[in-house]
Amino acid sequence: MKVPFLDLKLAYEELSDQLEPAVLRALRSGWYIGGQEVEAFESVYAKYCGASQAVAVANGLEALELALRACDIGPGDEVIVPSNTFIATWLAVSRTGATIVPVEPDEYTYCIEAIAVSKAITERTKAIIPVHLYGQPVDIDPIVALAEPSGIFVIEDAAQAHGARYRGRRIGGTRHATAWSFYPAKNLGALGDAGAVTTDSAEIADRLRMLRNYGSKEKYVNEIAGFNSRMDPVQAAVLALKVGVLDVWNSRRQSIANRYIEAFRATPLVLPVVPEWADPVWHLFVVRHPQRDWLADELSKRGVQTQAHYPIPPHEQQAYAHLGYASEAFPLAGLLAREVLSLPIGPQMSTAEVDWVIESVLDVLGRPNE
Ligand SMILES: *Cc1c(COP(=O)(O)O)cnc(C)c1O
Repeated sequence: MKVPFLDLKLAYEELSDQLEPAVLRALRSGWYIGGQEVEAFESVYAKYCGASQAVAVANGLEALELALRACDIGPGDEVIVPSNTFIATWLAVSRTGATIVPVEPDEYTYCIEAIAVSKAITERTKAIIPVHLYGQPVDIDPIVALAEPSGIFVIEDAAQAHGARYRGRRIGGTRHATAWSFYPAKNLGALGDAGAVTTDSAEIADRLRMLRNYGSKEKYVNEIAGFNSRMDPVQAAVLALKVGVLDVWNSRRQSIANRYIEAFRATPLVLPVVPEWADPVWHLFVVRHPQRDWLADELSKRGVQTQAHYPIPPHEQQAYAHLGYASEAFPLAGLLAREVLSLPIGPQMSTAEVDWVIESVLDVLGRPNE
């Protein structure tokens, strides 16, 4: 049996009866950037997140960058980011000219925590970007409590956490800003690139609307030097439809995660840890093993495709060589990069595929009860 890491065609096929008319409607509208479809999606998604506003943009990286810029962050400012995130979190900061200040995550939740963050705060700190990595919500209240009195912005990277709940409330209803990616493989994925920022601040939303459209509110009147980062109606129509199935699809991910956790409890794998205040959405199911490459190889021989998220931490990337970090500068990020392995998970995975992943892992690592 072959189990692909993720098959996006199956997601398309499940919804094609609804997607195809929606896409046709957008194609036939005669309007191809912004407009009604995009506004409709913004309002549906803001409501879903419990935010007062959503501003649609072109992709997740720009959602983060424009959120930073909407908070007036630039050269001379410091922005705290996790040492173990996807490179886009760092790129958003460096694109503004601000200084990246990496903080090591908690060893078990893989997310940054208030205590570590507090040690990295200086008088130049202007923002913190907690990343809800792998779909696990960050313990955000203590971070906000730390940031607010000093006027530090909290800009959440929720590119992997559509629908996740923290203490019962949905991620994204934030005073400052939460950045979203709708890259096709995310839990809420478009049929191309797309992104958004949700916020409860009318001021930040207003600046984002200008920034995404050349710095202009009124055509050919430019108040600030902006960007072109807009969503098109085809993606908006697709996304508005897919918000309607997001909870169901996330619950299928949850069932698969439950089965993996149960099946691998007694194996040497380090399993994901879910704090009692967290309702994760399992964008990825990440385990750890000291011989990760060997395990990936053995699983591949049995037809199970896996990935590592992520094999090289940002501070060790050539792209950031100029920052001059030693490889050991962030030992936990380094350790995770060597040990993490993502098993197949997705809303269209069949029971037989999940069974086969479990069988294969137990076959490689040994069955604890035998
Ligand atoms: C996917 C992702 C992004 C970037 O989103 P794009 O839409 O691909 O630009 C940013 N941060 C994290 C954590 C991501 O997983």
